[in-house]
Amino acid sequence: MHPQTVHTIDQLREVIAAVRRAGKTVGLVPTMGALHEGHLSLIRASKAECDCTVVSIFVNPSQFAAGEDLEKYPRTLASDLDALAGCNVDMVFVPAEEDVYGPQHATWVEIGSVAEPLEGKRRPGHFRGVATVVLKLLNMVTPDVAYFGQKDYQQLLVIRRMVEDLDVPVAIHACPTVREPDGLAISSRHAYLSPAGRQRALVLWKSLQLAAELVEQGQRRADVIIERMQEVILSAEDAEIDYIALVDPETLEPIEKITTRTLAALAVKIDGTRLIDNCLLG
Ligand code: AMP
Repeated sequence: MHPQTVHTIDQLREVIAAVRRAGKTVGLVPTMGALHEGHLSLIRASKAECDCTVVSIFVNPSQFAAGEDLEKYPRTLASDLDALAGCNVDMVFVPAEEDVYGPQHATWVEIGSVAEPLEGKRRPGHFRGVATVVLKLLNMVTPDVAYFGQKDYQQLLVIRRMVEDLDVPVAIHACPTVREPDGLAISSRHAYLSPAGRQRALVLWKSLQLAAELVEQGQRRADVIIERMQEVILSAEDAEIDYIALVDPETLEPIEKITTRTLAALAVKIDGTRLIDNCLLG
């Protein structure tokens, strides 16, 4: 059976009020739909920890920069509801764009330094859009816990910073990246890849694994590791490197010498599709 689907904020508030009257806790899993095993892992975490799990599906226009894939982003509500039927979630919240961003909308959440490098630098306005829509969803659903994937590592830091800085009464729980059996981090954007591109996309994971091996073997120089990662990526025909970075996992500042835990993060275009992945080293 499909879960209860709610489209308006008023209706959502009514259902949440009833859940609250029953003394239940609420978990929120914000998504843009085109649901896959990564999203389902967040849902399972929420179901394990909260009495009531709300999944939101909203392709947020404000987090797509001009020229990005907003128009072609996969919108698959019918099959998403089928996927959720087996998960026993309590509610799916699918707001209309005009309800999220009214005609007078003029308030935005700007996050400081942690939103600036990596994705922030390449996707102007992206985290402003993400932080704004997540804050709005948190205000609409008022969950006890909200769940985010480490696949979007910088996004997780941005949300944590916002929640701390703006005193948002919610706990943020991070869930590990779910990968295909061959290691590729699952993404809704894989829908854009050709079968051959899908195979070539494996170089992202291979380069991260190589970085982990090099650190294990005692390599401490970030420039050497990045160069080796580059070689792996460029072994895939048509791969275009957007960035490969070794950074501090808290501040995202570049690291030259690996002495503590380090985040390896990268963005690469395969088949013209921009893919990201990351892993912690050391
Ligand atoms: P999206 O629909 O792409 O906005 O993602 C919604 C949530 O699912 C975000 O918190 C993502 O970090 C998370 N997510 C996406 N892909 C994965 C994955 N492969 N493993 C774990 N979480 C993921």
